[in-house]
Amino acid sequence: MFKRIPGTKDILPAEVTIWQEIEKISRGIFSLYNYQEIRPPLVEDAKLFNRSLGQTAEIVQKQMFLIQNKEELYALRPEATASVVRSYIENSLDKTNSFLKVYYIGPMFRLERPQKGRYRQFHHVGCEVLGSSDACLDVEVISLAAKLLDNFSVSGYKININSLGCAKDKEKLQKNLREALKNSADKLCVDCQNRLKTNVLRILDCKHESCKKIVDSLKLEHQHLCPECLDHFNSVLNGLDLLGIEYKINYSLVRGLDYYTRTVFEITHPELGSQDAIGAGGRYNNLVQELGGPDTGAIGFAFGLERVLLVSKLSQEKKNENDLVFLITLGDLAKIRGMGILADLRKYGIPADTDYENKSLKGCMRKANDLNARLVLILGENELKNNVITVKNMLSGEQKEVNLSQLTKEIKC
Ligand SMILES: [Zn+2]
Ligand SMILES: [Zn+2]
Repeated sequence: MFKRIPGTKDILPAEVTIWQEIEKISRGIFSLYNYQEIRPPLVEDAKLFNRSLGQTAEIVQKQMFLIQNKEELYALRPEATASVVRSYIENSLDKTNSFLKVYYIGPMFRLERPQKGRYRQFHHVGCEVLGSSDACLDVEVISLAAKLLDNFSVSGYKININSLGCAKDKEKLQKNLREALKNSADKLCVDCQNRLKTNVLRILDCKHESCKKIVDSLKLEHQHLCPECLDHFNSVLNGLDLLGIEYKINYSLVRGLDYYTRTVFEITHPELGSQDAIGAGGRYNNLVQELGGPDTGAIGFAFGLERVLLVSKLSQEKKNENDLVFLITLGDLAKIRGMGILADLRKYGIPADTDYENKSLKGCMRKANDLNARLVLILGENELKNNVITVKNMLSGEQKEVNLSQLTKEIKC
């Protein structure tokens, strides 16, 4: 017997309703903000992610789902930002439509250790906006993230926000950190001792208590920001205040990826324990140019849907709203005739089904009940003879005979 590979999951029919609901809500909200959907491929040249996420990023070093194909090394996408930027440049969207707002919903792949709410194939709903560095856009994007969560029935989430500044500011921040951590290097965890040389910013989000303590003692603020970047950050905060969106400035929030500049944010939920992020995003003003496009501002975010579902109060009840009409036929002649009736009902947009397991009348009634059918239609020899059909309302129990030629008109809800 075959088993699914570790860290993957079957979304079974009983569960899929909630996924469809989340997707429907997302599409509705994104279109409210004038975002269009984009569907890049799930597999890309592995170098795209090395270049965009950074050689030292944990995703690139440990979590890439690689496929060796002759001379080429492909990767299943670990996130979609790099793919969207690649697509924007490759399809010359920067020339036809220099300002672009897009969203995506779909699977991502990372070879992580499987744990609660974390899968090797997981799902993101996210968006990217390319072509602007306007602080008001940051406000829109963060408010859109909050709006999605509100509509996913997630409450009690926290928005953490910070600014890394421009490329120069980031360099300054890295230099300051190396300097400040120089004397406490031996108290850092082994990973962070390496990060001190390779990717010092990652020390700021290390989960080790000893590292956290050292980071706290640094009393970080925005010393690294140039006046323009400080201005930009303050405008973002003013916009969020105006919209009444609560946030917390978190000076040690850096996100692990190389491409971030200026605004970064992370949304956490207290019910999720130590791995409490349900979504994150930020600006990546240098990435488009880095990947061969024009020098242009960009920002985006993504939610992990598995994480969102852990804290969403969206009811699973929806699946009980059913318009289904269930047809029961008695005898071979009625069965054939029934196929025509089903076709007619479906032609008029009425969801309809019948029994294909040769169940008894009682068994069929039980099945209709299990399916939560709105109506049951019974077609037997007598009915056939008189050109009628019995219609039973499953809610009221009421039963009547209807002329076959009037059926669709009679039962259309
Ligand atoms: Zn700056
Ligand atoms: Zn550490």
